[in-house]
Amino acid sequence: MDTRFSCTGCGKCCSDHHVPLTLAEARGWAEDGGQLIVLLEAFLENGPGLHSLNLSHAQQEHARRRSLPVLCGSAPAYVSITFAAYNLGPCRNLNADNRCGIYAERPLVCRIYPMEINPHIPLRPDMKDCPSEAWATGPALIAGGQLVDAPLAALIEQSRQADRDDIAAKAQVCAQLGIHTAALKGDGFTTYLPQPAAFLAALREVDNMPMPADNPTRWDLHIPDEDLARRLAETGAMIAAILADDAMFISLRRAA
Ligand code: SF4
Ligand code: SF4
Repeated sequence: MDTRFSCTGCGKCCSDHHVPLTLAEARGWAEDGGQLIVLLEAFLENGPGLHSLNLSHAQQEHARRRSLPVLCGSAPAYVSITFAAYNLGPCRNLNADNRCGIYAERPLVCRIYPMEINPHIPLRPDMKDCPSEAWATGPALIAGGQLVDAPLAALIEQSRQADRDDIAAKAQVCAQLGIHTAALKGDGFTTYLPQPAAFLAALREVDNMPMPADNPTRWDLHIPDEDLARRLAETGAMIAAILADDAMFISLRRAA
């Protein structure tokens, strides 16, 4: 079935959503005084975090392309790093009339919503914040299963490419901030709220940082499930017993 869409300007997508940013956007957000959050997930080359999610080959390739090869203990792994605007409540740029105060310069992800950036996640209107009337009018968004808005498709590709282009530099920023622990993909995210001045300094310096001599870099997995942690440790993976003071774990597990 074809999907039409027309934004109603309700502003719901601008509240209580951390907004993933490209590296350049993150630098701009921090320069502007905005708080950033770091979200981290990783999977092991030999399967955990990837095969356990029953991802298709194409989905696995997508996950690999946007991740950095690292070593977790003796286990080859991939870590993906998201820098996002920390939006608890309304975004700092959301005006009282629900309009974006930086509309012309808003982040890529804000331009792309409600479309998905992951090419393997279909658009599900029922999973989005947009009211039902937003899906009842407007031009065709998806026809015959294909996205028909060419400028929007170009923005999505730009976002995917930025993920690939930025990953090494993001890892450098994390190293600078002492961040080297990620959750297992599918289990949740390890999140950090770095001190803003330190984050901004690392973002400013990253273009001048040399690539680390220790390459691939070493990361730890944070696994809150003791049984799973034991099984992963048997594969040679390094499991972090506790998280740093400025870190949290956001679980993606369904309640039993
Ligand atoms: S930057 Fe603008 S469009 Fe993006 S979440 Fe904030 S208010 Fe909304
Ligand atoms: S939630 Fe949907 S309809 Fe509302 S402002 Fe965001 S994109 Fe527009």
